[in-house]
Amino acid sequence: MDHFNYRDGQLFAEDVPVAEIARAVGTPVYIYSTATFARHFQVFDEALAGMDHLICYAMKANSNMAVLRVMARLGAGMDVVSIGEYQRARLAGVPGEKIVFSGVGKTAEEMRIALEGGIRQFNVESEPEMERLSRVATELGKIAPITVRVNPDVDAKTHAKIATGKSENKFGIPISRAREVYARAAELPSLQVVGIDVHIGSQLTDLDPYEMAFKKVAELTETLRADGHTIKRLDLGGGLGIPYRRANEAPPLPFDYGEVVRRTVGHLGCEIEIEPGRLIAGNAGLLVSEVIYLKEGEGRDFLILDAAMNDLIRPAMYEAWHDIIPVIEPDVAAEQRPYDIVGPVCESGDTFAKQRPLPAMGEGDLVAFRSAGAYGAVMSSEYNSRPLIPEVLVDGDRFAVIRPRPSVQEMIDRDVVPEWLAE
Ligand SMILES: *Cc1c(COP(=O)(O)O)cnc(C)c1O
Repeated sequence: MDHFNYRDGQLFAEDVPVAEIARAVGTPVYIYSTATFARHFQVFDEALAGMDHLICYAMKANSNMAVLRVMARLGAGMDVVSIGEYQRARLAGVPGEKIVFSGVGKTAEEMRIALEGGIRQFNVESEPEMERLSRVATELGKIAPITVRVNPDVDAKTHAKIATGKSENKFGIPISRAREVYARAAELPSLQVVGIDVHIGSQLTDLDPYEMAFKKVAELTETLRADGHTIKRLDLGGGLGIPYRRANEAPPLPFDYGEVVRRTVGHLGCEIEIEPGRLIAGNAGLLVSEVIYLKEGEGRDFLILDAAMNDLIRPAMYEAWHDIIPVIEPDVAAEQRPYDIVGPVCESGDTFAKQRPLPAMGEGDLVAFRSAGAYGAVMSSEYNSRPLIPEVLVDGDRFAVIRPRPSVQEMIDRDVVPEWLAE
């Protein structure tokens, strides 16, 4: 569900015509819908109703400060993976007690800042990290609340680059070693065990891997409690997939995910934390781009856009499929033709779609990539010296630029040529 629909023959973002934003801000541009973020948050909240829970938005999916403000005002907690994200969350008004800190490579400096600023828990991913956290907390005279991220060795059945719950992945400690690691945590000074953490991957389109992982977590909860540990929170991670509107694609609904949570761990009396990123932000965003050229090739026609792989890396990086639609609503009777849709970057990987059927398109036409709100702007780069593209937030009939487009000069001016090269 999103708030990007055709109305009066053209695409709207909530109550604003997409073409109007493109005119005002230029293309390419990311456009986000406030109502869609809110709706996705509420759907999760309802799915977990009746269980004590906190939704910690995985802000790596989209960490623009305005987006974080939307989430903070809804009451969301945050899942952060770096001190930069931690600081964004705090500046967006999220209290430390609603922030969980994930990631395999937390530095002592990051631990220090989070401990001093306030943190709900560290999701510890290894024994060396646990030892270091204990030392840092002791030095500061603080107690660090922790869960240990366990790797349940389940196949999330998603793209290899975003599967995290198999034993060959770098994440968490093997669940078979959990008792040992929790015993060590209990020995170490300045750590307080509060629960267990698990996150098996991203863009999951099947609930079975969750069911398997959560059952293992439930068993582990009983075992660890019998060993004398306090397990009062279960952080179940994120990863629920979204429809990218490809044919035959029907990822499970948050409601059904909530039922799996209830069925597998609901009886344990734990507070449930979840860390959705993509499902909150993905379908809350469009990438809007203009056709620069229609290049008629041998046997195939190329639509060359002003957006490129540096603006949206997902197709190149994950072979991801994005729905691409014209901003002017096509006539239902309009004939469709296959296009290869590409960007201007000097790599063959700069291809968004191959042989994608669209009504006849040409120079100056606008297209919108759907489902571009998550892992879009945050993963962009300036490759080919293309300045980062702007982001716009729509709320009803108003919109605002929430990150302006830097000029080429501003981009260049960040580089420093040393004195000895100045002559
Ligand atoms: C990436 C990540 C998430 C969010 O995953 P989504 O697929 O965007 O929901 C949650 N938790 C952790 C630890 C992650 O690394």
